[in-house]
Amino acid sequence: MNPASVGITLQACAKHYERGQRALHPVDLRVEPGETLVFLGPSGCGKTTTLRLIAGLERPDPGGRVLFDDEDVTALPIESRRVGMVFQNYALFPNLDVRGNVGYGLRIRRMPGEQIRQRVDELLDLMRLREYADRPVQRLSGGQRQRVALARALAPRPRVLLLDEPLAALDAQLRETLRVEMSALLRGLGVTSIYVTHDQAEAMALGDRIVVMSQGRIEQVGTPREIYHRPANLEVAGFIGMLNRMRGALRDGRVHADGDEELWFRPEDARLVAEHEGELRGSVRQVIFLGDRTRVGVAGAAGATLWADVPGRVDVAVDSRVALRVAAEALLNPASTAR
Ligand code: ADP
Ligand code: MG
Repeated sequence: MNPASVGITLQACAKHYERGQRALHPVDLRVEPGETLVFLGPSGCGKTTTLRLIAGLERPDPGGRVLFDDEDVTALPIESRRVGMVFQNYALFPNLDVRGNVGYGLRIRRMPGEQIRQRVDELLDLMRLREYADRPVQRLSGGQRQRVALARALAPRPRVLLLDEPLAALDAQLRETLRVEMSALLRGLGVTSIYVTHDQAEAMALGDRIVVMSQGRIEQVGTPREIYHRPANLEVAGFIGMLNRMRGALRDGRVHADGDEELWFRPEDARLVAEHEGELRGSVRQVIFLGDRTRVGVAGAAGATLWADVPGRVDVAVDSRVALRVAAEALLNPASTAR
C-alpha cells in the first residue's frame, strides 16, 4: 500500500533543551524501510525527544544529522518531511466529525474534493470507521478515537508513521486488543513506523526491532527475542522482564548457591522442585496467582528471594520447603551467554 516508505538514519543526534538540560546524548540509529521500530524505556529517557527529531518538531544540537534515505532532512520542518503522527491524547479536532478529521491533512494540501472523498473512504474502510463517518469525535470511544487519529495520520500517504504512546490512555483490556490490531495493521501497511512506548509487552508484540533507551542513551537495539534472551546489560535485562539476581556458582551445568559469581535468570527458567531435587533450597515466602501461571517467591540459601513460575493449576503452599533448579543455559548475564 505504501511503496514510498523510507529508511531513516540518525547521525550523532544529541539534544539539549534551553536550560542546558541534556535530554539526549549523541545517538546513532538506522531504521530500515518498512520496519516497525519501537522505542522502549522509562518515562523521561528521551523517547519523545528522539521521535520529535525524526518528525522535524525539534532540531538536533549542531553536528547531528537526520537522513530520510539519502536526503538530509535535518533543516526541514515537519510540513516538508511527509511524516504522519499519532499522539497519546489523540489531538483530534473536536469541532470536526470523523470524516472531517480524517480528511484534514488532505484539505490543507489542497487535494481536489472528489479525491479527498475517495481517500477518506479508503481509510474509513481500513479502520472500520465507515459507520461513524458523520459522528462528532466527542461521541466516540477511546479506541475509536485512536483509530480516527491513525486514519488521519495515514491519509496523506506519509513516508514515515510516528506513534507516541498511542494506546497509553486506554484501559488495559482495550490496550491488549488494540496492540494485536495495531501490529497486524503496521505489518500490512509496510510503511516505516516508529512506535514509542514504556510498556514492554507492547514493545515485544509490535516491534520488528526494539530500541531500549535509558537516561538519554540507547542501551540496546535488537529483535524482541534478542532483547529478552540476550540483554546487553542489567538495565535492559531488568526493564524488559522480571529478573532474578543472585550470587552463586556454576557446576555441572547448574546454578549452585555457594559462590560469588553474579548470576541472572528469569522466573520462567527456574524450575520449582522438591527440596532434595534442586540446588537452591529455601522456603516459599510468597505465592502470586496470575491465572495462566503462578509466580512463587523462594527465600533461602542464595540470599535474596528468587522467583520461579509454575503452571497456574499447580498449588504451592506458603512456608513449604522447596528448591529451585536453574540450568546454565538459562543465564542471561552477557558474560555467561558468551561462554
Ligand atoms: P520520554 O518521552 O522518554 O518520557 P522525553 O524525550 O519527553 O522522554 O524527555 C527527555 C528529557 O528531556 C526529560 O528529562 C524531560 O524532562 C526533558 N524535556 C523534554 N522536553 C523538554 C522541553 N521542551 N524543555 C526542557 N526539557 C525537556
Ligand atoms: Mg514521551
